Amino acid sequence: MPVVIAVVVLAVAALVIVLLRQATRLRAALAETKAAAAAELARSDHERSSAEELRTRLLRALDAIPQGVLIADAHGKVVYRNRVAESFADARHSDALVEAAVGELLDEALAGTPTDRTIDLFGPPRRTLVITTQPLADGALAVIDDVSERRRLDATRRDFVANISHELKTPVGAMGLLAETLTLEDDPAVARRLAERIVDEAFRMDRTIEDLLVLSRIESEEAPAHEPVVASVAVAEAVERIRPGADQAGITIEVADPDPRLVVFGDRRQIVSALYNLLDNAVKYSDPGAVVEVRLRPDGTRLAIEVEDHGFGIPKGDLERVFERFYRVDQARSRSTGGTGLGLAIVRHVATNHAGEVTVESRLGEGSTFTLNLPCDALAPAAVPSPHGASS
Ligand code: ADP
Repeated sequence: MPVVIAVVVLAVAALVIVLLRQATRLRAALAETKAAAAAELARSDHERSSAEELRTRLLRALDAIPQGVLIADAHGKVVYRNRVAESFADARHSDALVEAAVGELLDEALAGTPTDRTIDLFGPPRRTLVITTQPLADGALAVIDDVSERRRLDATRRDFVANISHELKTPVGAMGLLAETLTLEDDPAVARRLAERIVDEAFRMDRTIEDLLVLSRIESEEAPAHEPVVASVAVAEAVERIRPGADQAGITIEVADPDPRLVVFGDRRQIVSALYNLLDNAVKYSDPGAVVEVRLRPDGTRLAIEVEDHGFGIPKGDLERVFERFYRVDQARSRSTGGTGLGLAIVRHVATNHAGEVTVESRLGEGSTFTLNLPCDALAPAAVPSPHGASS
């Protein structure tokens, strides 16, 4: 009997040991599972916050781009629009046109066809928009691009090329005709006159090409040199350049006692070229014996350089346009004075390149005042030495 009891006790002890081991393993497995679950939870938390961060970044990026972006779900309901696209969502007439077009194109994209359409809005301001749509896996995307500025630049470039062709074709055509007549001419006096006219036309073409080169150089130098330029020295240099022509036309140029401490920062060559063009016009469009005055007027952080003539003046209706390339108030007068129609375009470009502006006031029959306004760092303590050292 005691043997049986001993066996039972041993069996129970063995069972308890087995059960204890199992329990320990189970605890370990449980702990492992808990740790894995916690790690999984942390990973998905991290993934969720990175996805949230990415979403915020993408939304900010979409708000920063200049195009309007809209996303529609599979039923055509717009579920997202960026900031630019929002601006088309109000109820103004032209915006309603855009909304309607976007809706139509999104429907086509949802049916599987990528589409684009150009819309002209008559404004104001006048605008041209290109709407492009693309099907997506579960909806469609629309992009609205404002191409008004691009279109305007293309048109300006096309006009410019047409204008240059015309400007060069005219003297070349004239030279051809004159040369043809010259070959048939026996009278030496007439032949001489014809040859002189050929020379005139050649000079005219040369001036146009020269001005085109200056304009193209100035246009390409969007960030011109930023050197100190003594305003009175720049004026003196321009006056010296115009002097022979002014003397020949019997025009006096008076420079009103300029302060030698006035300094503007920029490209000396460009500033002198702008002043020369203003003086050239003042001389060309004045009667012999007239006086042209140049004044420097500092005003805080700006310097106004005024060129005033008492010549023919410009009609009010033309004042806005005289700065356009090849625009002339009086074709015949510009032609007879050797004008290229590019002088004021050069002046305006120089002003823009220097964060300045050029303005004009004029009265027909009384004269004109052109003012070149440039940023000026107040009065320099002493005149900055110039390689030309001249002052008028
Ligand atoms: P142009 O070479 O023909 O002078 P600009 O571009 O310098 O070309 O000037 C454009 C036009 O503006 C001129 O053709 C002229 O009709 C007018 N204009 C410019 N400056 C003056 C001025 N000081 N007085 C009268 N008309 C002027």
